[in-house]
Amino acid sequence: APVVLWFRRDLRLGDHAALLEASKHSKHVLALYVLDDALLKPSGAPRVAFLHGCLKALDEQLGGRLMLVKGDPAEEVVKAARAIGAAAVHVSSDTGPYGRRRDQEVKKALAEHDIAWTETGSSYAITPGRITKPDGDPYRVFTPFYRAWVRHGWPRPADTGASIVDWVEPPRSVKLPKSPSLKGMELPEPGEKAALDRWHEFLDGDLETYDEDRDRPDRPGTTRLSPYLRWGCVHPRTLLADLAGNEGSGAKSLRGEFAWREFHADVLWHRPETARKNYDSRFDAMEHESDDEAFKRWCEGRTGFPIVDAGMRQLLAEGWMHNRVRMIVASFLVKDLHLPWWLGARYFMNHLVDGDLASNQLNWQWVAGSGTDAAPYFRIFNPTTQGEKFDPSGEYVRRYVPELRSVQGKAAHKPQGVKDYPAPMVDHAHERQVALERYGAIKGP
Ligand code: FAD
Repeated sequence: APVVLWFRRDLRLGDHAALLEASKHSKHVLALYVLDDALLKPSGAPRVAFLHGCLKALDEQLGGRLMLVKGDPAEEVVKAARAIGAAAVHVSSDTGPYGRRRDQEVKKALAEHDIAWTETGSSYAITPGRITKPDGDPYRVFTPFYRAWVRHGWPRPADTGASIVDWVEPPRSVKLPKSPSLKGMELPEPGEKAALDRWHEFLDGDLETYDEDRDRPDRPGTTRLSPYLRWGCVHPRTLLADLAGNEGSGAKSLRGEFAWREFHADVLWHRPETARKNYDSRFDAMEHESDDEAFKRWCEGRTGFPIVDAGMRQLLAEGWMHNRVRMIVASFLVKDLHLPWWLGARYFMNHLVDGDLASNQLNWQWVAGSGTDAAPYFRIFNPTTQGEKFDPSGEYVRRYVPELRSVQGKAAHKPQGVKDYPAPMVDHAHERQVALERYGAIKGP
């Protein structure tokens, strides 16, 4: 009997463990994707538009045989499976809170019709939840997690591709809806081929200097793979296999970044409520401001702190922001404006093309100090010196804040009386003290 391969966060055909598993059971596989409003509605235009592009690319790779349906997965997956008389539905595990709940429902609905459910692999090199301390507890600190992750090792890439099975003609399919308007925002090319092209370009170029350049928003030194990893256009195992045996500083540092992604997914797997709540519950007592005008200025990049404004405007222009700048703008929201981290996290999820619940919420909590392995609360970024250090010639700031284009060099980080550019909206030295007092109050003696 044929089987269904239900695609979710694995929009590729190479290195696809669930496809390999499906092919062992049947040579006739129906490729299915469910447009699910529960996921799409809160996703924000850049992520939805990028997803649509990835679905188009996948459909082309499948010779037009991707079955698209819209609705509740618990109904739609069953209907699709029954329409072709499928014996089983194969998936890659989705380990996020919504995905886990949804999959329980789908599994139950399939069981009522005697259709099997098989999960193989996930979006991670090591499926979240697999790595624990020797006593079975989850890791709370990155470095020991990282060591255990490397020790555990990861499976070799699965040898798969479009031609390992015969793709079943979809019994029906809806048209891909119109993509939301991006208002001039430019997104990367979607799909598996684009992901691999980008990766090979990086391997041939910036890998060697990655370790030195990864903190420099003015340089194009990082992989820019985050949206592809978000939708599974490439599997991290493929990337790790390409780095195998490379002990250069670039490869080492990049493996560490991939591991951060896995660590945060592991934390969210063990503590799904941390998508909304403080990981460290002492932070529930934290005093926050409620200031819509201040939040709006942060969102629009009009704080009067050039590196913060450049970051927020890069987000609006590209749906992406450099990691160092994400840390700076997040710290500014939490420690200079004293607004709650989840406000900023929600805004990021709405605007990032790579918006990923685990990476986003837990990085925000890391910056706010309420997460695992958090930055010490007394380490408060000074946005001006951060800008001078990581964008030493002011190039990044001038690229995204046109009002500052006439200010030469480093001075772009301390503009004085520039027409149309606001004065700093807060006194950082003062707000730093306020933050320290508030943090001191909840951290206790
Ligand atoms: P590279 O430097 O090339 O890194 C390679 C890959 O490693 C990335 O694609 C990503 O998958 C992973 N990675 C790197 N740094 C981190 C990190 N700190 N945490 C988790 N994974 C990491 N990343 C997201 O993918 N989605 C998010 O929603 C997201 N939100 C963030 C929010 C805040 C406040 C902060 C500080 C960081 C956030 N990050 C998020 C992590 C990081 O900023 C991005 O993954 C990175 O900037 C993507 O660019 P790149 O692919 O060029 O990264």
